Amino acid sequence: MVTGIEIDFLPVGEGEHSGDAIAVRWTEGGKHKVMLYDGGTKNYGRPLVEHVKRHFGTTHVDYVVNSHPDNDHAGGLLYVLENLTVGELWIHQPWNYSEHIRRYFRDQRITDESLARRLQEKMAAAYALEVCAEKKQIPVYEPFAGCQIGIFTVLSPDMARYVHELIPEFEKAPELVKTEATLLGAAADFFKKAMGSVADVWDKEYLPDTVETSAENESSAILFATVGTNGYLLTGDAGIDSLRAAGEYAAKRGIDLPKQVTFAQIPHHGGRHNVSTETLDILFGPRLAQRPEQAWRTAFVSASEKAPRHPKKVVTNAFKRRGFKVGQTKGKSIWHFSPGMPRREGYSALTYLPFYDEVEE
Ligand SMILES: [Zn+2]
Repeated sequence: MVTGIEIDFLPVGEGEHSGDAIAVRWTEGGKHKVMLYDGGTKNYGRPLVEHVKRHFGTTHVDYVVNSHPDNDHAGGLLYVLENLTVGELWIHQPWNYSEHIRRYFRDQRITDESLARRLQEKMAAAYALEVCAEKKQIPVYEPFAGCQIGIFTVLSPDMARYVHELIPEFEKAPELVKTEATLLGAAADFFKKAMGSVADVWDKEYLPDTVETSAENESSAILFATVGTNGYLLTGDAGIDSLRAAGEYAAKRGIDLPKQVTFAQIPHHGGRHNVSTETLDILFGPRLAQRPEQAWRTAFVSASEKAPRHPKKVVTNAFKRRGFKVGQTKGKSIWHFSPGMPRREGYSALTYLPFYDEVEE
């Protein structure tokens, strides 16, 4: 019987780059369980460990989960594995699937080992976690749809999609990364020049269905748990394909996300390329016809203090239209807790983001 839960989003981010470090604790059968979901970049390992010691009063973490191999999520977890005792590590190991994916490559001379090595080098921060866990004899599992991590059920990615669609995309990544960098650069220039904004109103939403994010982001392990009548959804940097898949998988399992979700992580630091009206409707239900007197659920977003464009106002508004209060890190630790969890010193009431009457063009 689970009687309470608390979720902390630690402030992560270097310069304009955001990241995620999320600490979760729940009470099960009178005992506390701790799960860490991502650890930010390398420098955030230490504050995350301090957080666990100070606020959770323990040096043991039951579950360490790396949502996806990007450095801003995997980097800090190595320090966690080295400095706390860990029950289980949950991480995808794409380098173990070379024999299944080599047929997607034009160059058939490539060996399984060289394919594996390329992925291990490219995702060095994530691979280091596996190496460390093996050295310390921490069991390692892969978070695929249907797996259970404590009270959390993995909703996405489905294993077949991960192996046959996402991993082959990782391998192309040097080019992909370049495209993304160019695009972001172009967008940044555009904003610097134009700083355009457009009026936004409650009953209209403009989130195109054609947005795309990297395959690495789409591979994010999406988790869901219920505690009493509340539901908790963690999304990593997932994009619309994976969010849709998570919604569909949940429905198959008899989970009614739109009714059950009372807490959600806004994916990818509130970026513009990860949510659409369709996917938000699948996960959280349709927009409310009218602005509610009081929002009845909470969304948190991890955005670097110096990231001027995270979270996007248009994304914040979309969550507010579905009954969420929106809290952001922006250099501060933010804490969501259910009744029954121990009180803490040093936290003041969170200021939520407004509904914006003007959003990015
Ligand atoms: Zn990220």
